[in-house]
Amino acid sequence: MALTKEQIQQIAAQTRSSFESGSFAPTGVQCLFDDVHDAIDTAIRAQHQLMDMSLEERGKLIEAMRVCAREHAEELAILAHEETGYGKVPHKIAKNLLAANKTPGIEDLHPTAFSGDNGLTLVETAPYGVIGAITPSTNPTATIINNSISMISAGNAVVYNPHPAAKRASQKAMELLNEAIVKAGGPNGLMTAAKEPTLDTSKVIMTHKAIKMLAVTGGEAVVGVAMKSGKKCVAAGPGNPPVIVDETADIAQAAKDIVDGASFDNNVLCVAEKEVFMVNSIADSLMNTMEKCGAYRVYGEDIDKIVRTVLIQKDGKYVINRKFVGHDATYILRESGVQFSGDPVLVIADVDRYHPFVEVEMLMPVLGMVRVNNFDEALDEAFRAEHGCQHSAMIHSSNVHNMSRAARRMNTTIFVKNAPSYSGLGFGGEGYTTLTIATPTGEGLTSAKSFTRARRCVLKGDFRII
Ligand code: NAD
Repeated sequence: MALTKEQIQQIAAQTRSSFESGSFAPTGVQCLFDDVHDAIDTAIRAQHQLMDMSLEERGKLIEAMRVCAREHAEELAILAHEETGYGKVPHKIAKNLLAANKTPGIEDLHPTAFSGDNGLTLVETAPYGVIGAITPSTNPTATIINNSISMISAGNAVVYNPHPAAKRASQKAMELLNEAIVKAGGPNGLMTAAKEPTLDTSKVIMTHKAIKMLAVTGGEAVVGVAMKSGKKCVAAGPGNPPVIVDETADIAQAAKDIVDGASFDNNVLCVAEKEVFMVNSIADSLMNTMEKCGAYRVYGEDIDKIVRTVLIQKDGKYVINRKFVGHDATYILRESGVQFSGDPVLVIADVDRYHPFVEVEMLMPVLGMVRVNNFDEALDEAFRAEHGCQHSAMIHSSNVHNMSRAARRMNTTIFVKNAPSYSGLGFGGEGYTTLTIATPTGEGLTSAKSFTRARRCVLKGDFRII
C-alpha cells in the first residue's frame, strides 16, 4: 500500500491521459454524455434490460463490480486525491475497498409473505427504476462504488450528478464499473452522467419525470433542494459528530481512537470526530496522550491564527475556507504561520464550548477539545454541538449507564462506544458499510433495500401448503 510519490504521480498521469482521450470504455460502452437527457434515456433503457435478467445474473454483475472496484481501488484513490486535494491516498484506498467488499448486494433484498385463511400475500422489494444520485467531493469514488452496488442490486439504474470538483474521479469510477458490468453480460448504461455535471444538469435530473427517486449525499443545501423536489428522496446530510470522554474511560485507548478517527482521510468523513467533551479530571491526561499518538496541541494566539486561516466569517457566522478541507494538519499549521515540530496528523486545541472549532463542521484535522465538569455536562454540550443532525456521536467510557444514557439522548443514526468513528461504518466494527448515511429521511445506513419500493401480490385461496 505504501506508494512512492513518483509512483502516485505516474498512475495519476496515466489515468488523466486515458480520461482525456476517452479511452477507458471499450467500443460501444458509453456512460458519459454531452447532454444529460441522453444520460437519462440510456439509463432508462439499461434498467429495462436489467429487469429482463434473472436475479442470479444480477448477482453476477454485482460480483463483477466488486472485483473491478478492488482492482482499481488504488488508482481511483490516487485520482480522487489528485483532483480534490482532499485526504490521504492510503485512506482513500481503504474506503474504496470497504465499499467494494462490505456494501450489501442482492442478498439484502428479502420478500415477506402473509399466509392465512384468506390465502397468500407476497410482498416483494421492487426497484424504483432510475435513481438520480448527487454525490459529494469528500468521498467521491467510494460513494460511487457504494451507491452503484446498492442501487443496481435493487434492480435500478442510476444517473449521477457528481460534485464538479470531483467529477473526473467519480466519472472514472462509473466508467470502470459500467465496463465491468458489460463484460459480465449486463446492459450498458446502468450508471450514467453528463460529461459536465453542473447545478443545471442536477436540476434536470431532479425534475425529470422518469426519475422516480433521488439519493443525495452532501451538505445542507443539496439536502434542502432534494427534499423540496416532490420526489421520493433518500437524503444523507451533514453532521458534527461529538465525542464524550468520561472519567471511567481507558485514556490510552480513547486517545488513540480519537486521533485515528479524527485524522482518517484528514477528517472528511461525515462520521468523523469533530469535537470532544472531556471531563476535567481526565482532560490533561487525555490531551497529553493524544499528543503521543500524533496530535499537535496549539495554544493562545496560535489557535486564533488557525481560526483566521481556515475559517471565514459570513453573515455573522463562521464557515470553512474550502481551501483547507481535507488537508494535512502540517499544511494547516504551516499556512496558519504556526511553528511546530514533527509530523502531526491532527491539531488539537483546548477551547471553550462555543468556539468555532466546536460549532462548525470542520472537515479537516482540527479538533476542538472542551473541558466540562462532569458527564451530565458533557452530554448536554455534546447534544447541543450536534446541532440536531442526528448523524453520529461517540463515547469513551467504561460506565455502562453513561453509555446507555448518551446513546438515548444523542439519538444519532450512528453511535460508537470505545472505538474510532469509522467503526460505525463497519471499518474495524461489525456490520455492513455505506457512504450514504440517510439522516434526515431516516433510512440510516443505506443498502440495496433502501432503494426499493414494496409491492404486494395477493392470491386468494389455494396456494397454501397447510
Ligand atoms: P456539498 O454539499 O458541497 O456537495 C454535495 C453535492 O451536492 C455535490 O454533488 C454538489 O454539486 C451538490 N450540490 C450542492 N449544492 C447544491 C444545490 N443547491 N443544488 C443541487 N446540487 C447541489 O458537499 P461536499 O463538500 O461535497 O461533502 C461534504 C458534506 O457532505 C458534509 O457536510 C458532509 O457531512 C456531507 N456528507 C454526508 C454524508 C452522509 O452519509 N450523511 C456522506 C458524505 C458527506
